[in-house]
Amino acid sequence: TTRIVLAERPHGEPKDSDFRFEEVALPEPSSGEVVLQTLYLSLDPYMRGRMSAAKSYAAPVEIGDTMVGATVSRVLQSTVDDFAEGDIVLGYGGWQTHSVEKAKYLRKLDTDTVPASTALGVLGMPGFTAYSGLLTIGNPQPGETVVVAAAAGPVGSAVGQIAKIKGARAVGIAGGPDKVKYLTEELGFDAAVDHRADDFAEQLKAATPDGIDVYFENVGGNVFDQVIRRMNLYGRIPVCGLVANYNLTSLPDGPDRTGQLMNTVLIKSLTIRGFIQTEFAGEQMPAFLDEASGWVADGSLKYREDVTEGFDNVLDAFRGLLAGRNFGKALVKIAD
Ligand code: NDP
Repeated sequence: TTRIVLAERPHGEPKDSDFRFEEVALPEPSSGEVVLQTLYLSLDPYMRGRMSAAKSYAAPVEIGDTMVGATVSRVLQSTVDDFAEGDIVLGYGGWQTHSVEKAKYLRKLDTDTVPASTALGVLGMPGFTAYSGLLTIGNPQPGETVVVAAAAGPVGSAVGQIAKIKGARAVGIAGGPDKVKYLTEELGFDAAVDHRADDFAEQLKAATPDGIDVYFENVGGNVFDQVIRRMNLYGRIPVCGLVANYNLTSLPDGPDRTGQLMNTVLIKSLTIRGFIQTEFAGEQMPAFLDEASGWVADGSLKYREDVTEGFDNVLDAFRGLLAGRNFGKALVKIAD
């Protein structure tokens, strides 16, 4: 197998030299294990956190270890009855072309109704993140305004569409005219604004004439600074991610606005609640898979994938994800 190991902890944007490609022999599977060939590797923003030694909700990848990640794979060899050669499974094989995994952590995918890659996006962890965080913490009501950034990505696009399904008004924030157009014309968002445009604040104001009831936080940074001003009384802010910060190496310049922020929280009676999707997975995953599959089938939950071909291009694709060069769920196709 070829694998990508962490060679050094990146400072800022990850560099090629922070990683090493290694060619190693696959271990023989023990009883209960399955040998897999990776078809798709999922690239997700949380991986930047795993490259860092900073304290987080999960342990970092150790130097010299294979980078982690969710994968869709084909079973090459099985030691258990539940999986047979040729089955397509969802697993956590990491950044490598082949893996040996415990069968109990794999889920067999039905590839007749939807493409297997959807198990990494709209019908996988990102889709579930949108569903659980929006409905449990955001609790959008009919007629309310829901705003989400990174809205063309797998989490944000599902947040906006599920908000619509629940009868709310969905406003997306994305980088650049193509993504903005996609949100309103293809996904049915009520409005979309470009956070890279000079007049972003004015665009946001025009798109949220009744203020904002739910802000699903994916990015932080300047987007948050503009959104917080438009929150309504009793607004809810599920804090899902802060991708604008992930490559930062120091605090931004300027005055400390914490006091101002806390004043807004106070006078608007806001609820700001962070979450990691695993908190809800045990209880809500079956309902999510059931409901979201129905929405995908009836066209109310659309998705887009950004597929990079070839294992050699994993690092470029990952850097692109943090910089917004992906348009849709970032995947690397490693084998057919
Ligand atoms: P995306 O595919 O949406 O990729 C991230 C996007 O963030 C980029 O495409 C870019 O889009 C946008 N972005 C990057 N920098 C900035 C910036 N400075 N300001 C505004 N937008 C920026 O990723 P996902 O849908 O997979 O993830 C979205 C968020 O959800 C991430 O923060 C991730 O960490 C979080 N997450 C959290 C989970 C949890 O359990 N809490 C689970 C899964 C994801 P654009 O071109 O539009 O700027």
